[in-house]
Amino acid sequence: MTAPPGQPSIQPTGVNVLVVDDHADNRKALRAILSSPAFNVVEAASGSEALRKLLVEEFAVLLIDVVMPDIDGFDLATAVREREKTASVPILFLTAHATDHELVNQGYRLGAVDYLTKPLSAEMVRAKVSVFAQLYLQRKHIERQAQRLVEAEQKQAELRLLDLRLANERRYHALAEAVPHIIWTAQPDGSIDYFNRRWFEYTGVSAELAGGDWMVALHPEDLDRCSEAWQEAREVGAIWQTEVRLREASGDYRWHLAMVVPEYGSGAQITSWLGTLTDIDDQKRAHAVLAEFKGTLDAVLDAVLIFEPETLRFLYVNEGARVLWNRPRNELAKMHPFELMTGFDRDGFRSLLLPVLTGKKSAIKVETLCLRSDGTEIPVELSFQLVRTDSDHIVSIARDITQRKAAEAERQRLLEEAVAAVKARDEFLSVASHELRSPLQALKLQVEMLTRPPESRKDAAPTGWAKQKLEGAARQIERLAAMVSELMDVSRIGAGRLHIDREQTDLSTVARETIDAFREEAAKAGCAVTLHAPGSVVGEWDRLRMTQIVTNLLGNAFKFGAGKPIDVFVEPHGRSARLRVQDHGIGIAPDNLERIFQCFEQVKTEKRYAGLGLGLYIVKQIVEAHGGKLGVESQLGVGSTFTVELPVTHSEAHVEGEPSEARPRRESDSRPSLDVVSASRRQ
Ligand code: ADP
Repeated sequence: MTAPPGQPSIQPTGVNVLVVDDHADNRKALRAILSSPAFNVVEAASGSEALRKLLVEEFAVLLIDVVMPDIDGFDLATAVREREKTASVPILFLTAHATDHELVNQGYRLGAVDYLTKPLSAEMVRAKVSVFAQLYLQRKHIERQAQRLVEAEQKQAELRLLDLRLANERRYHALAEAVPHIIWTAQPDGSIDYFNRRWFEYTGVSAELAGGDWMVALHPEDLDRCSEAWQEAREVGAIWQTEVRLREASGDYRWHLAMVVPEYGSGAQITSWLGTLTDIDDQKRAHAVLAEFKGTLDAVLDAVLIFEPETLRFLYVNEGARVLWNRPRNELAKMHPFELMTGFDRDGFRSLLLPVLTGKKSAIKVETLCLRSDGTEIPVELSFQLVRTDSDHIVSIARDITQRKAAEAERQRLLEEAVAAVKARDEFLSVASHELRSPLQALKLQVEMLTRPPESRKDAAPTGWAKQKLEGAARQIERLAAMVSELMDVSRIGAGRLHIDREQTDLSTVARETIDAFREEAAKAGCAVTLHAPGSVVGEWDRLRMTQIVTNLLGNAFKFGAGKPIDVFVEPHGRSARLRVQDHGIGIAPDNLERIFQCFEQVKTEKRYAGLGLGLYIVKQIVEAHGGKLGVESQLGVGSTFTVELPVTHSEAHVEGEPSEARPRRESDSRPSLDVVSASRRQ
């Protein structure tokens, strides 16, 4: 048997050949012709038997007798063609009438491939059957090859899929190793097949010790609850999550969020479980602290608001906030902080927070008005502080400052009133002292004239009782003049018009002359005054003001010296001059040492000493106007020493503020009536 050209030669090995003929002899003859290991001849005695055989076996070629009693060859061919499985099986008709063209054409129309005419030529039958057997085998071969190809492709696809799966798994594991959470995977039955590195680091438990169970590191109190829930999740194949305490290598427990998710393959079957354990301990503690604080925060009177800096959404508002803003807490919680105060929109509010958000300031404070639900506004002080926990929060405390504002306004009003009162007093002093001065001078002159009348009226000179009374009147006038003079000085100082007329002055001479002038008063006070001035101490000072200094200090020494000796020292002291007036009288309590240099200040004592409380204040102003210093050392019941230090030259005097000469002289500025003071005592 030869293969058709171009086709591989395939030896037919027992291909099925169906011989359909009602004549047993014919079937026998054909079996004999086709007796070869290449063919497996199956016989059918009728069309219906042939159809039955075709149902169970596959045939390479059918040899059908055209003329048969039940179903003739053509009907059988029609039935064969109609069945999908057999539609393409080649049919060779066996006929004794090959010359009948009509019959032959009908056979071809029904799909016959050839005719074998009786008497059969054995050679012809074998040749034709062989061709179809060969074709059949080739088709089978191609089908097998195609099948193998499909299988090979399938295998390759499976390999590619496996590769992909492995790569995915590698990526998956690499990812699982990189994340800071614990990750495990388990078989569908829940037995663990993977723990990431974090598990081993955190728990210190090896995979063998874990025994395929992630629950080995659970807190005993969480174990039962979790086991049941995990079991149930496996049964229903559902996602499950819970909070658990997980033991770390040190033995401590930290709260974790445990989450278990089923993984599915292409079908509905669970292929594995993925578990994660995320450390939420800090977060949980922060919430616990916050929860604990909430009770406290609700109890405080201040309004406490906690919000997210990003979204400006409130996380918490306390009871105090409800009261302050007069809005329900749930309504407040839906608002934004900037909607609760005047003067800020979202952007403006963000800029306000910027210093705390960038860490430039730990907290900021702002005073603004809070907008209440009824449309009223209340002054509030708001502080904002950034608190970093698991996420950033801004904690704001708002305080109603209505009362503080009212107190501030009241203080301001009182201050303005006080300033106005002091101004009015100074103005009154200025006017009064000026107005008093002229009649006082006139009175003084009149009394002097009465005491020492001119030559022409010498006979009217007072004597006896009248003289005594006039001298008393003159003394009182001098005291009055001294007080008016002090008042004028105070009003000048208050107005910044204390004028200093510098000239070469010998302080020793000034001291001596003043002490001489006060000899009578010294005697009256019972105080022996000793001047310690070994030589001249000359400086650029205002002579009359120097006299005023000595007068005032000496006057006080008489007044408070308790009739004990008084020492006056004048001496150079470095580049300055120093004047000291020392008494051994009542002394001054330490608490009062500062106070006595202030305007109208007197120390309260059992005995009332005359005076306005201005003398030391004026002395201090004069000394400072010369660039000098006034100090006191004193002890109660022991005595006091007042010390004046004056720079010798004007250039060495560091006078605070404007130099006195540079100060513009005003019209009303006039010298004090020291002619009166120098001759007077203030006692
Ligand atoms: P006053 O006109 O009242 O004396 P001063 O300004 O001169 O005013 O003195 C203020 C107060 O300082 C006096 O009232 C007195 O209490 C106290 N004081 C001044 N000098 C002495 C002193 N030498 N000894 C004790 N107390 C003094």
